[in-house]
Amino acid sequence: PYEVLVVGGGPAGASAAIYAARKGIRTGVVADRFGGQVLDTMSIENFISVKETEGPKLAAALEEHVKEYDVDIINQQKANNVISAEKTEDGYIHVELESGATLKSRSVILSTGARWREMNVPGEQEYRNKGVAYCPHCDGPLFKGKRVAVIGGGNSGIEAAIDLAGLVEHVTVLEFSDTLRADKIIVDKANSMGNVEIIKQAQTTEVLGDGTRVTALNYTDRTTGETKKIELAGIFVQIGLVPNSEFLKGSEIELSSRGEIEVSPKGETSMPGVFAAGDVTTVPYKQIIIAMGEGSKASLGAFDYLIRTPVP
Ligand code: FAD
Repeated sequence: PYEVLVVGGGPAGASAAIYAARKGIRTGVVADRFGGQVLDTMSIENFISVKETEGPKLAAALEEHVKEYDVDIINQQKANNVISAEKTEDGYIHVELESGATLKSRSVILSTGARWREMNVPGEQEYRNKGVAYCPHCDGPLFKGKRVAVIGGGNSGIEAAIDLAGLVEHVTVLEFSDTLRADKIIVDKANSMGNVEIIKQAQTTEVLGDGTRVTALNYTDRTTGETKKIELAGIFVQIGLVPNSEFLKGSEIELSSRGEIEVSPKGETSMPGVFAAGDVTTVPYKQIIIAMGEGSKASLGAFDYLIRTPVP
């Protein structure tokens, strides 16, 4: 059995594994796809002290750093349940995998991340990272002086519009329903900016491009049924970030109403010995540097737990 088993191999999981291994304790990482969301992005300019890097490069560096230590990496394996030590005969926490195998550990760190909800319209996949973006903090500066749209009129959509308005020439917000779900105070702020337009009852139907970059989008005006086109360079999709926590639904680990794992300041979940870090948790602002910090914190929390808990 492991002393620390990390579930998830993104920035949070890699950081948790390194902090655990540096304590000289038996550490494992099980991941569906080592690298995580970082593999899906190109330019990264806000990983402090590294002026610019690329997603696949950072993912390779994460793996290389973890491999400097004695850590078992179990890649391309998905966890589908976590069973409390109180319920197992051997007194270890059990992590069950989809493959049917069970991994045992004295402590577990869940860092399964999240995924952006997609529009599922033609052109979205083709122009991903070529104009279709999901993270305004990450990719906003790439559209300096250009016209962009934000899809979604919830808090994240309106916040993105305000954020982008300071950088780009013009922002159009497209909201599907007839009301904005965002807080009034930020809607007022967006409306007060000269270069933000909010269109309600607008269903985005297609991303258009010239083969290399986005050039426009089509939407249906749901009040008239008419198709309309907006010429632009970027589309920020802000219709929700979905935590990868579905596999915990049957466990006793407490999730928020949005499905995020509830954690204490030390990264503890509601299950003794089980910690969590990164985008899958309730910790706000989903970023690489935050996920790494939280991963190291959860790992130190797990070590603290281990030295106070008897070996089964
Ligand atoms: P993830 O990176 O999501 O990693 C989760 C890990 O868990 C993966 O290994 C996954 O395979 C694994 N996993 C999931 N479910 C299971 C399961 N059931 N069993 C086993 N393993 C599982 N942030 C920035 O700071 N700067 C940027 O420029 C930036 N650009 C981005 C661009 C894009 C297109 C995207 C999508 C995100 C971007 N982000 C950026 C956000 C950043 O990538 C995330 O905040 C960060 O990766 C979160 O790290 P994490 O370790 O919590 O989760």
